[in-house]
Amino acid sequence: MRLEELTSLIMAQAKAKGFGTKPNDIDVAEKIALIHSEISEAYEAFRHQNIKGKDGFEEELGDAVQRILHLCGALGVDIEEVILKKLNSNKNRQWDWDKMNEGKS
Ligand SMILES: [Mg+2]
Repeated sequence: MRLEELTSLIMAQAKAKGFGTKPNDIDVAEKIALIHSEISEAYEAFRHQNIKGKDGFEEELGDAVQRILHLCGALGVDIEEVILKKLNSNKNRQWDWDKMNEGKS
């Protein structure tokens, strides 16, 4: 299933459940905060090694992606196109890993 199809399913459910489906129906800042809250829930689940259970890491990542796709659907963002464009622009990008505090623990 492509992201476009998944977004269509999410938007159909949003409509059925009374969530916003158009830019004027939603508070973008609130939606971003809710995406962030799902990421925080994923972090907490991972900390407690609840990976596959209810409210587990995988479920919370799914919640976050659903919320992102809902936001994209409401705003008309073609997220597949955006991701592919970014992947392409990153092909020749260089990272200076010595200056980054990422992936080290
Ligand atoms: Mg959640």
